[in-house]
Amino acid sequence: MNSLLIEAPAVAIAAAAGLTAYGAVYPRAQIFGRTICRTDSPRKLAITFDDGPNPAITPKLLDLFDRYNAKATFFLIGKFVRECPELVKETVARGHVVGNHTETHLNLFRLSPMQVRVELRLCHDAISHAAGAPPKWFRPPFGLRNPWVIPAARELGYQTVMWTLIPGDWREKPAEWLIERMQPIAHHAQQSLGNESSPASGTGDVLCLHDGTHRQLNGDRTRTLAALEHWLPRWRDLGLEFVTIAEAVRTPAP
Ligand SMILES: [Zn+2]
Repeated sequence: MNSLLIEAPAVAIAAAAGLTAYGAVYPRAQIFGRTICRTDSPRKLAITFDDGPNPAITPKLLDLFDRYNAKATFFLIGKFVRECPELVKETVARGHVVGNHTETHLNLFRLSPMQVRVELRLCHDAISHAAGAPPKWFRPPFGLRNPWVIPAARELGYQTVMWTLIPGDWREKPAEWLIERMQPIAHHAQQSLGNESSPASGTGDVLCLHDGTHRQLNGDRTRTLAALEHWLPRWRDLGLEFVTIAEAVRTPAP
């Protein structure tokens, strides 16, 4: 028997598995549905936070952002929203956007279509109740998608948001390490905005940080706060504007 005939299916299966992994994990992959990964201008930086609300950190972030007239997007976990709805209300009242990060932060890649719908719906209801309006933006836990995650989100009217930079602020590293990992934002801004004579063109960054941890409420994110205290004035001086994801994209994905 021709060995090619035996090996070809194995190769095809391996290739399909590779494609699935790429579509599930790679933040800017679009094969499981269209996602937003960038802002529409290099001037606009969309800072996003996952895994809150977190009473230990989110109020401090809100105060820090007020100092720079900065706006951000918070992707919330439904079970935490139910524990601190007032914090969600305040986040929205201070001009930020809140989004759906599922009810319990499971790996959606492993769930059935029905289970995915339940995870989305419970968080949707929790945020709608706390914030007074349904959220419009969704980020999957761990950034993981499968063929039915984005369509399920779309059923509830969501656009799915990924990122250009995820510096890994959940790691047990000093703030200096995290500050260094966020350097690409400034580098990109210098390249795009540094030349005064030519108008800025191209796209801007979506930064993925964490104001909470999905394991429990009141997780320690002081290094994330410290890194932003370092960077916000520097990014502002480079000409960046800190916008919500709603302000980041003029023409939303269908
Ligand atoms: Zn998360």
